[in-house]
Amino acid sequence: MTKTVHHWIGGKTVEGTSGNWGPVTDPATGAVTTRVALASTEEVDTAVAAAKAAFETWGTSSLAQRTTILFKFRALLDANRDAIAELIVAEHGKVHSDALGEVARGLEIVDLACGITTQLKGELSTQVSSRVDVASIRQPVGVVAGITPFNFPAMVPMWMFPVAIACGNTFVLKPSEKDPSPSLKIAELLAEAGLPDGVFNVVHGDKVAVDRLLEHPDVSAISFVGSTPIARYIHTTASANGKRVQALGGAKNHMLVLPDADLDAAADAAVSAAYGSAGERCMAISAVVAVGSVGDELVQKIRERAEKIKIGPGNDPTSEMGPLITAVHRDKVASYVHGAAAEGCEVVLDGSAYTYEGAGHENGHWIGLSLLDHVPTTAAAYRDEIFGPVLCVLRAETYEEGLALINASPFGNGTAVFTRDGGAARRFQMEVQAGMVGVNVPIPVPVGYHSFGGWKDSLFGDHHIYGTDGVHFYTRGKVVTTRWPDPADAPTGVDLGFPR
Ligand code: NAD
Repeated sequence: MTKTVHHWIGGKTVEGTSGNWGPVTDPATGAVTTRVALASTEEVDTAVAAAKAAFETWGTSSLAQRTTILFKFRALLDANRDAIAELIVAEHGKVHSDALGEVARGLEIVDLACGITTQLKGELSTQVSSRVDVASIRQPVGVVAGITPFNFPAMVPMWMFPVAIACGNTFVLKPSEKDPSPSLKIAELLAEAGLPDGVFNVVHGDKVAVDRLLEHPDVSAISFVGSTPIARYIHTTASANGKRVQALGGAKNHMLVLPDADLDAAADAAVSAAYGSAGERCMAISAVVAVGSVGDELVQKIRERAEKIKIGPGNDPTSEMGPLITAVHRDKVASYVHGAAAEGCEVVLDGSAYTYEGAGHENGHWIGLSLLDHVPTTAAAYRDEIFGPVLCVLRAETYEEGLALINASPFGNGTAVFTRDGGAARRFQMEVQAGMVGVNVPIPVPVGYHSFGGWKDSLFGDHHIYGTDGVHFYTRGKVVTTRWPDPADAPTGVDLGFPR
């Protein structure tokens, strides 16, 4: 073990004092490389106090001051893409090009935040009544907290804090304890950009830290991204404590392939979206629904492509897919493949026994690509979010049957339709119950100026994240009704009637 990761509070590194530490492994070697401080409730309180103190001035800072800092941060982030990607690869395990993609998608939200001036313009109606004007303005909510998952240790925090601080809030981030380092690099860059101390804080930790944030009286809002059971818990607990909360959960994303689709394009998309980042993406395609007679040909094309994917360490530029986050998770993913045949699936590819042969990597969290065909909806591999490189193919006779299957899923994050028929695609986009829809696009993650979020068990709360929803989540509306009498007006006199 060579490294210790501490908290970032009030603009500087603050050493962990709880005595509790979490191990961080390099997924490609299985070696514990780092220990991360796990915060006590008192350490969380220190971070919230720093954020509360900073809000006194940041909450009323000028838009020009905020955007000047954000533009500098954007330039620093751009210059440090590689450095952040290296930290992601070392602790998450994804391949370097994929880590760079993650940083790029996070940077998009910084772009949005740099343009916050236009988002916070408010609305004005003049002369709604005689000499009466009405203005709608938005003000920051105060101290807000972000709790984030392991799978995008740079991007998901950037879905939250750029918009939050641009709107005048101060922020406490509780990143995943499995890959904590990218968040600290981001904190350092924000400080270098001139962000005042205490506006952005990082406390590392586990349930102890999260629970304190959920109950802390000085935290006004909670943004959460992670698995569905924890998202549900966060939403219930934070709501009961009077906070506004957006809690994004897990997923099972379906791709509907209609009989007229370009099957080569569909197979390319299915393989990219199912196995990219070893399936550890909330927008991964984990279920393909083949409609009509295309199933056999499509499965054959997916198989041919999947067999060519090169698995290896994320820092090897020839690797296309890296290892899984932990050995425990690898074993859990493998168990779904082991149980698949007994549940009625046809196992076309079984990657559960794969290991990477490179010296020093024997204990990495390796797994190969698995492909299951004729998967019944009762199979655990279909019902659960596996979060690994396992693709299920289901068959449907008709569009209606395929749509009904997708809409019966408790999840509703992303979905995609592959077809050459615009009418069918339009019908799908209107009828499918999911928050993000791709038409011949397998991973329809919205750009920064639209909002990201699922339906059903994929999101608890009313607001999606970033975009206009993000601005609304991190601000409170206020409506100001003003009358300025003309100097020539006679007094209006007393009127006990309700104002009309
Ligand atoms: P997770 O739910 O285990 O952890 C997320 C966060 O919650 C972490 O910071 C963790 O420390 C904390 N946490 C874990 N258990 C907790 C508990 N019992 N009480 C309080 N806090 C707790 O998720 P993960 O394994 O880190 O990430 C993978 C999951 O995140 C997948 O389900 C994936 O679909 C989901 N995800 C969803 C989206 C989305 O936008 N909907 C995006 C990325 C990831």
